[in-house]
Amino acid sequence: MQRLRSTLDRIDRRGYGAYKDLQGTYDLGGFTLFIDRVQRDPFAPPSLVRVRTKENPFDPALFENSVRRVAFEDFLTRSVEAAIRKVVRGNRGSGGSGRVEVQRPSQVVLSRTSMVVTSEHVEARLAVGLPARGRTVDSRAARTVLLDELPEVVRRALTPEGVSVDRARLHVETVEDAEHLRDLLPSLGLIAFVADGSVLPRESGASDRPLGGDAVPFEGPEELRVSVELPNRGEVSGMGVPEGVTLVAGGGFHGKSTLLSALSWGVYDHVPGDGRELVVARPEAVKIRAEDGRSVAGVDISAMIGDLPGGRSTEDFSTPNASGSTSQAANIAEALEIGTSLLLVDEDTSATNFMIRDERMRELVHKEPISPFIDLVRPLHHSLGVSTVVVVGGVGDYLDVADRVILMEDYEPSDATPRAREVTSKFPPRAPLGNKEMRPPRGRRVRASSIDLRRGRRETARGRGLHTIELGRERVDLSYLEQLAEAGQTETVARLIGEFAAAGESRGVKEVVEEALNSIFERGLDSLGGFKGHPGELSLPRAHEVAAAINRIRSLEASPETG
Ligand code: ADP
Ligand code: MG
Repeated sequence: MQRLRSTLDRIDRRGYGAYKDLQGTYDLGGFTLFIDRVQRDPFAPPSLVRVRTKENPFDPALFENSVRRVAFEDFLTRSVEAAIRKVVRGNRGSGGSGRVEVQRPSQVVLSRTSMVVTSEHVEARLAVGLPARGRTVDSRAARTVLLDELPEVVRRALTPEGVSVDRARLHVETVEDAEHLRDLLPSLGLIAFVADGSVLPRESGASDRPLGGDAVPFEGPEELRVSVELPNRGEVSGMGVPEGVTLVAGGGFHGKSTLLSALSWGVYDHVPGDGRELVVARPEAVKIRAEDGRSVAGVDISAMIGDLPGGRSTEDFSTPNASGSTSQAANIAEALEIGTSLLLVDEDTSATNFMIRDERMRELVHKEPISPFIDLVRPLHHSLGVSTVVVVGGVGDYLDVADRVILMEDYEPSDATPRAREVTSKFPPRAPLGNKEMRPPRGRRVRASSIDLRRGRRETARGRGLHTIELGRERVDLSYLEQLAEAGQTETVARLIGEFAAAGESRGVKEVVEEALNSIFERGLDSLGGFKGHPGELSLPRAHEVAAAINRIRSLEASPETG
């Protein structure tokens, strides 16, 4: 502590670069402070520091296995965030002076680099704007931040005296229950489960927090009721969605899309109070949508779309500008390439001509390469074991192909399967188009050399917020990845793509993604940090989002995998 004080005294009022002298490790009594990287000037991205307690004073039950540890780390990250809001004044001069930040978690619980809990210690990774007056060192303000505010944040957020141990336990147990529930799905023949009492609607289109007072809690229909025994909560009942083809029908604004969206987020665990703590889906479920304008590199969409104008093959389909239907087909083929057991499709975000083609249009148009999705859902299930949940308000033909129909009325689901059967029996059966079987798409090799990381004299592969990855001079647009939860995942994906590009080898997409995630599993997310110390703000992505980002690189070149 003395050393930190004297360095600060020595560099006071000198040029901002003098802060570099702070780099190092300091014993601050109750904890160790690591100043890993010092920013160049007050306006640059903040300096990276870590605070590490000298022992782990928490009940070991909170982190006794990997599920609990990730949940507890998530809890402590949020606890640090709250403590910073209370304790840190911020704004102590020019630029980001005096700011203290921790990685910003979304509503889901993820493995992140913001916090490390081991049996020996608890370590938080922070970003600190070292204070400046103009462009000179402000030692007095720096002392306040590093020697008053930081220790108070540690006391409030990282010690049993400062945090509510009951809330920590609830956090860990909630996540454990959700993981257990998700693991149970296959043995119950389910693809998703929504507990009674869940709150599905969100605050707004721009916020993932739960809708307040007016939310109608979920109450599953009797016919689909399933009860399960969870390790902490005990018995829980709710709606089990069985494997096969499930239709969500209902009038406009009755909660169909809200239900589907909750299922798509059910691949992740949620924090207590979110409302979706016990809404789970198969972990590899993929929300599929149309995305016209996206680029596609060598994807086999031939099972869905036949030869295009000019006899162009769709087994190795590339375009810099996909249409609504071809983009949706590519999204499905790419999901199957990585492996999935559940596709989630909403009419709101689908291409109409991909979803359906009616009698009259069949009469008029003969040159139509698309096998509409309505004729693919059954083969997807019986040939490939892939279930679907489709939200449809306007196209009754889907009743013909559904195993189950959930009707949403005033946000309340009912089982309308028998009624749907009655309705369909009144109409002549629909003649299906396309194949009765579905084959998986051919895998692809992607060429690492087609990704150019150069940007001027440097090489870059980094996330820019939630929806953009910067690779050299290219910006990859991830706006339509509806299951990307937070910017830390985007950053991780960017670094993984950077590693793949730098290695320079061409390999199968699935192989690239699996190896990258396996390596994280073995060596930890920290291994993606470029140097020893603070690795930056990373969260664990799913395989599907890593692949989806690779697939959206506009310069990407791919070729069919042989054999
Ligand atoms: P649909 O897809 O059937 O047209 P949405 O799912 O988009 O309907 O929902 C319409 C509106 O109702 C949205 O603003 C949504 O937030 C709200 N909503 C959905 N479910 C509930 C609920 N259970 N309680 C209160 N509001 C809800
Ligand atoms: Mg809708």
